Amino acid sequence: MTADPSVPWRRGRLLHAALPLVRPLATAHGPIERRNALVVALEDDEGRVGWGEATPLPEFGTEGFEACRKRLVARLGGAPSGSDPSKPCADFAWSTALRDLAAQRAGEGLAAQLCREAGFGDGPASAVASQALVAGATPEEVVASARGFVEKGFRAFKLKLAVSPGARGLGVDLDRVAALRQVIGPEALLRLDANEAWSEAEARRALVAFACFDVDYVEQPVARGDVDALGRLAAQGEVAVAADEALLGQGWRDLLAAEAVGIWIAKPAALGSLDVALELVRRVAAQDGRLIWSTLIDGAIGRGAARALAGATSAPGEVHGLGTGPLLAADLREGTDPVRDGLLPTPMGPGLGIAPEGAVLEAAQALHEVVR
Ligand SMILES: [Mg+2]
Repeated sequence: MTADPSVPWRRGRLLHAALPLVRPLATAHGPIERRNALVVALEDDEGRVGWGEATPLPEFGTEGFEACRKRLVARLGGAPSGSDPSKPCADFAWSTALRDLAAQRAGEGLAAQLCREAGFGDGPASAVASQALVAGATPEEVVASARGFVEKGFRAFKLKLAVSPGARGLGVDLDRVAALRQVIGPEALLRLDANEAWSEAEARRALVAFACFDVDYVEQPVARGDVDALGRLAAQGEVAVAADEALLGQGWRDLLAAEAVGIWIAKPAALGSLDVALELVRRVAAQDGRLIWSTLIDGAIGRGAARALAGATSAPGEVHGLGTGPLLAADLREGTDPVRDGLLPTPMGPGLGIAPEGAVLEAAQALHEVVR
């Protein structure tokens, strides 16, 4: 079941909002300093507005800003629906705006609708657990960053590997992970992300070396296209392996067909739409896999859609990667997702229930408008 493609909107707008990070986020793909959000607004005759956000991250493999903008302008101009796997962020924004408006018109929350469509009977969870993304190139910086999150009540922590300038070898990462385990204690969940940094042989050595730190999983140890290597590493069992970049575009279908992994890091904005996300939920459940919802360091609307999905479909007790809001120095709307004791609230609507407002909206550039 998909959102009604005939959701009647009368006025459509496209805005560009710049979302700087508090400080650059180091990843094995390079630093992320700023996010550029394309915000879609679809308004009906009664003045309801459905909102969607595309914040492409070409470093991760999505379309670039310009391709995304063109696709959304075409959608506003009446281009036929249907997904284009090469432009997942644009299609995600469009799908979010349509579903937000449709749910508002039905007087329902988007999370409640997603929950029903996914076949999860009892309604969305009021909150889901989220991990802290620990920063720091050195063990000392890792300890300082993690300590702040421990004090805020987090019980799950993720660290990106292969990010230390001039020291991409395993040695510094072993020291960083050891320092993190020490400061978070033996009970906390510890997750690692290699962002495709290793060859298969390097990954095998790394997984053996990290086994003593009781790691929940390592994300994307090898290049996204090497499904066979990912499958061999996952079968090895030293430390569990999760797929992330490998899901992009149509990649998740290849992973499912190969039954390569049991842990899926899913970013709705990289999958192409909330409908694709729901299909992934069903298919991963059929393989008894774990599904962890995550973001592309999106603004409040994109994160809100991911939080709605997580609230609607999360396995009990699963911890997600949705707490990326505080990485942004300015957001489409402030204060939408406060983390309390490691828990993030599910937006309950009506619709998505998150409209942009504040200084970022006032500074946003109007790119396109259509009245039909
Ligand atoms: Mg990742």
